[in-house]
Amino acid sequence: MPGQTMRAWQWRGPGDHGLIETPAPRPAADELLIRVEACGLCGTDLRILAGDYGHARAPVVIGHEFAGVVVAVGSAVTGFAAGQAVAADPNVYCLNCEWCARRAFNLCQNIKAIGIGRAGAMAEFVTVPARLAVALPDGLDPALGALIEPLACVLHGIERGGIEPGRTLAVYGAGAIGLMAVVVAAQLGAVVTVVEPLARRRVRAEVAGAVECLERLAPGRRFDNVLDASGAPAAVADGLARLRKRGSFIQMGVTPSGFELPISPYRVYENEWRIIGSNSVADCYEPAAKLMPQISQPMRALVTHTLALAELPRGIGLIADPAAVKVQIDPRL
Ligand SMILES: [Zn+2]
Ligand SMILES: [Zn+2]
Repeated sequence: MPGQTMRAWQWRGPGDHGLIETPAPRPAADELLIRVEACGLCGTDLRILAGDYGHARAPVVIGHEFAGVVVAVGSAVTGFAAGQAVAADPNVYCLNCEWCARRAFNLCQNIKAIGIGRAGAMAEFVTVPARLAVALPDGLDPALGALIEPLACVLHGIERGGIEPGRTLAVYGAGAIGLMAVVVAAQLGAVVTVVEPLARRRVRAEVAGAVECLERLAPGRRFDNVLDASGAPAAVADGLARLRKRGSFIQMGVTPSGFELPISPYRVYENEWRIIGSNSVADCYEPAAKLMPQISQPMRALVTHTLALAELPRGIGLIADPAAVKVQIDPRL
C-alpha cells in the first residue's frame, strides 16, 4: 500500500538478483495498484536473471505473468474499483507506432513490459496501466489469472499458424507452453500428436488432450501443422521436415540465437509451406482471458508448484525438473 514497504524479487545484472524490501509503488493517474496473488515464473525470467534478455533494464523487479486484486486506482481510471480481481497484459505498448497500428503490440517500437522494462509482479504489489487490465470472473483462481499471459502467447501462435479443426498438429515439447498449445488445439478440434523425450511430460500431454504422445516420430510421419515449443535445435530440424503440403511450421520455442538450419526454397515453393514465428501476446490477451474459464480444469493442472517469494531460487531449479510444469509464486505466502 502507498507509504508502506513491500518485498520484491529484483534483478540487478547477470546472475545478480535477490529479495529486497522496497517502497510499495503508487498508481499514476491512469494506473491500478494491484496486490499480487499469483505470478508465474517462466523461461523469459530465467533469461533476464542470467542477463541474456535484450529488453531487460537493470535494476528491475521481475514477474510478468500475474493476477491479483485492485487495492487502489489512479485519479483518471474508470471501470475498476478496489476489491476487483484482475490480471493484466504486461506488455506496455505505445499505441502510436506502426506496429501498434497493425495490432502487432508485441513488436511495438516503444514497448516497456512489466517485469522486464519496468517493475514487475514478483512482489507484493505492482502498478499497471488500467487499459491493459482485465476484470476476472468472481471466484476465478488467481493461479488461472496468472496463466492468461502464457495462454495468450499460445493463442497468438495458434492464430498465426492457422490451425484448423480436423487437421493434424505435431507439438514438439511438453513444457508449459507446449501443453497449453495441446489444450487449445485439442479444444479447437485439431488432432494433436506430442513429441517429447521425457516420459513424465508425455503423460501430462495425454491428459491435456493429445491423441498420441511419442518420444520420437517414425520416419515419414507428416502433419498439417507443426509447432515447436521446445526450442531444441534437433526438434526444430526434425519438425521442419515433417510438413504436409500447405503445412505451416510455428516457431514458439526459443532456440539459441546462433542456431541456423539449411532450408530448400524449392520445397517451400512446391509444397506451399509457411514458416512462421510467434512470440509474446500481440493482441491475444483479452481473447485468452475470455477463454480461460472454459478450459480452467486442464489449465489449473499445469500449475504444479506454488512457492513463496523467498523460495524463488527453488522455483528456478524446478523449471528444469520433469516433474514441474508451471511454477508460480504467491507473494502472500
Ligand atoms: Zn513468461
Ligand atoms: Zn507501439
